[in-house]
Amino acid sequence: MSKTPQAIRGTQDIFGADAEAFAFVVETFERVRKLYRFRRAEMPVFEKTEVFARSIGETTDIVSKEMYSFEDRGGESLTLRPEFTAGIARAYLTNGWQQHAPLKLAAHGPLFRYERPQKGRYRQFHQIDAEIIGAAEPQADVELLAMADHIIRELGIEGVTLHLNTLGDGDSREAWRAALVEHFRAVQGDLSEDSQERLEKNPLRILDSKDPRDRRFVADAPKIDAYLSDDARAFFEAVTSGLDAAGVRWTRAESLVRGLDYYRHTAFEFIPDEGSEAAGRLGSQSTILGGGRYDGLMESLGGAPTPAVGWAAGIERLAMLVGDKGEPKADVIVVVEDDQLLSHAIAAIGRIRSAGHSAELIATGSPRKRFDKAVKAGAEKIVAFAMRDGEEHVRIKADDEGRIRLEGLLA
Ligand code: ATP
Ligand code: MG
Repeated sequence: MSKTPQAIRGTQDIFGADAEAFAFVVETFERVRKLYRFRRAEMPVFEKTEVFARSIGETTDIVSKEMYSFEDRGGESLTLRPEFTAGIARAYLTNGWQQHAPLKLAAHGPLFRYERPQKGRYRQFHQIDAEIIGAAEPQADVELLAMADHIIRELGIEGVTLHLNTLGDGDSREAWRAALVEHFRAVQGDLSEDSQERLEKNPLRILDSKDPRDRRFVADAPKIDAYLSDDARAFFEAVTSGLDAAGVRWTRAESLVRGLDYYRHTAFEFIPDEGSEAAGRLGSQSTILGGGRYDGLMESLGGAPTPAVGWAAGIERLAMLVGDKGEPKADVIVVVEDDQLLSHAIAAIGRIRSAGHSAELIATGSPRKRFDKAVKAGAEKIVAFAMRDGEEHVRIKADDEGRIRLEGLLA
């Protein structure tokens, strides 16, 4: 016998309760994004490699280690998308979507990163994603974060808090960066190997390091607040007061930087509170949603300066917190107790489904046992077709209201 090929490491075949939780996350996202009037976009799963390399930054983990890049048959370097934002920015520029600015966009689908697979971390994973492009006002950040918070609440997830920081404008960020380089250079030899390398290329990333050797130097590293320009400070204050007005709970996270080069001003993550049930379920892969303002991104792709802000959240990680949604029971089960009534039953179940009730047909196995099967399946309403004294007989098991509704559909 030939051997069955295995699935690719880091991919998942999502089924059963996990698939229901996954679908619940996507459905909730779809519902809430309409409340906030975000428009849907369907994006290509692959792009030219430079779309990601130029925007995300050559020195980031994603570009330097995690991309699935390959040459296609025409010799062009293509990459399976590791995130949505860069592709959306490319689309904004190549399609002239400037005419829609400020453009509120929502997307969801698979992403690909070559990472070490573990619980909550996969090589093909999925995100919901929201972006506001062409809006420079802090109000855009507030609206985007209010939507994120709303989705998490609608999912019934508790014990998760918005961690918020500002990276300042270009000037503030440069001054802060210089101070960080000075701080970390003094202890260079004690940093992790990765961070020694980051020191030259991308020192802000040291703040993001999970290595315990780095953590103790991160704690007393210079804080952005000392370097903020008046404009950057006013911007951040407008964001925080807007969040307070919107009733979004947040906490200041002074060393939160996010891994990518393109962020300015607001940067944020939603993280489970320490010791919460959510933290327990996620283990070490704790960030469920992250994002920020990326005013520099469009320029890196050759576009005009364009202010924008966005976030992405891992569907799998959200689904883990949603817990077991179970598989929903049918509203109605239609039982065929006599096979000569099959066509009647098929016609009836069609009408029941058209009226918006989920319905299952039981028409196989021993006819005498079919009704019991329906009862065991736990349906609240059962419609059984049988012959009695040579006549068709329809039996309905339901409460009074259900019976009246079903009789209307069957008449
Ligand atoms: P992490 O620090 O966990 O690697 P990240 O900063 O790389 O996250 P982002 O690029 O900001 O993550 O992606 C946003 C969200 O997408 C994350 O908060 C997480 O929920 C999810 N995510 C990212 N990478 C993966 C992955 N490999 N598998 C599953 N979910 C992921
Ligand atoms: Mg990552």
